[in-house]
Amino acid sequence: MSQQNLESLDVEAIREAFPILEREFDGEQVVYLDNAATTQTPDPVVDAMSNYYREYNANVHRGIHHLSQEASIAYEEAHDRVADFIGADGREEIVFTKNTTEAENLIAYAWGLNELGPDDEIVLTEMEHHASLVTWQQIGKRTGADVEYIRVTEDGRLDMDHAREVITDDTAMLSAVHVSNTLGTVNPVSELADIAHEHDALAFIDGAQAVPNRPVDVDAIDADFYAFSGHKMAGPTGIGALYGKQELLEEMEPYLYGGGMIRKVTFEDSSWDDLPWKFEPGTPQIAEAVGLVAAIDWLEELGMERIQAHEEELTRYAYEQLAAEPDVEIYGPGPGPERAGLVGFNVDSVHAHDLASIMNDHAVAIRAGDHCTQPLHDKLGVAASARASFYVYNTKDEVDKLVAAIDDARQLFS
Ligand code: PMP
Repeated sequence: MSQQNLESLDVEAIREAFPILEREFDGEQVVYLDNAATTQTPDPVVDAMSNYYREYNANVHRGIHHLSQEASIAYEEAHDRVADFIGADGREEIVFTKNTTEAENLIAYAWGLNELGPDDEIVLTEMEHHASLVTWQQIGKRTGADVEYIRVTEDGRLDMDHAREVITDDTAMLSAVHVSNTLGTVNPVSELADIAHEHDALAFIDGAQAVPNRPVDVDAIDADFYAFSGHKMAGPTGIGALYGKQELLEEMEPYLYGGGMIRKVTFEDSSWDDLPWKFEPGTPQIAEAVGLVAAIDWLEELGMERIQAHEEELTRYAYEQLAAEPDVEIYGPGPGPERAGLVGFNVDSVHAHDLASIMNDHAVAIRAGDHCTQPLHDKLGVAASARASFYVYNTKDEVDKLVAAIDDARQLFS
């Protein structure tokens, strides 16, 4: 880590790029701790998208006129920028999707439906988000492939001995979450990919909660596929990215058909364009791609290591205060490198939804519910949990407001 990266973030300066954080509700300034759902969007990202619409809005695919040329170059180069950001070899390996969920579905349909059969197994983890769990479960039902789950331990980690048991020569696909959106656990995804590869299985890593807040290198992980969403990393909604190893994407059939993804069409048959366009039919998310590039530029200027360090510090601060309360149960590992910037918890006497509602009375925005991990909540023995999740603009003062609001809720309900 360079010296520059060891300096902490200038949160006050960062917050100036987010006018939304100045909003007040009933005289209380908003405390936004729902970043695992969606992060706020800094002015440079909004400006880049607005500049696109004001200056060079046109359809892509290389129209002859100037505006289309400019839009096409920006859109195509956005793939290069994303590739560079996550350590992919080039634009051929980056497919823009609507979000992480669509990336999971793309591989499940384009690869899974064609490659899986009753002799195959799909291995997931018990902490998968529904984006992966429901998708592979349904592909399993349609192809006859079995779905197995790597166990989560009492302390919210993956049981790696169990991983070595369930990943076998019958396994065709391992799909694992990099960072759990419920437990905050940072999984050993490189080790998981290695185990999958020892059995000639492919590894899909869901990076929705990892790419926003830590350096990610898909090559170092040796993921076959990796997915994330723009709206969780200071970027716009409506765009996500799927990374795939080029040789795998080359072999796969398209998932959606239409214009913009073909090479030659006759009344009888069609052939496909080069990667990644083969997987991007129709008019794509041009403004959103421009916004995603602006978000990556903005994050890299802050420094991904510094962002990670900032989140770890806030999480430790929040965790220690919550852990000191006898009636608070926190899910997932303790603070440190195995815990990302979120804390999922329950307070004994207060239902998570009531807690979120009382927090809202103080303009503290947290999430309550199953966080799209219902089976994991079943395993934890609760229907819902409360989740506070942090980003670059959050402060220790805001964590104090969270803790004070919990006190308030406790008094109200006791
Ligand atoms: N995976 C994880 C771990 C997530 O946290 C989320 C969002 N909650 C998703 C997948 C789905 O992301 P999106 O809604 O952007 O498709």
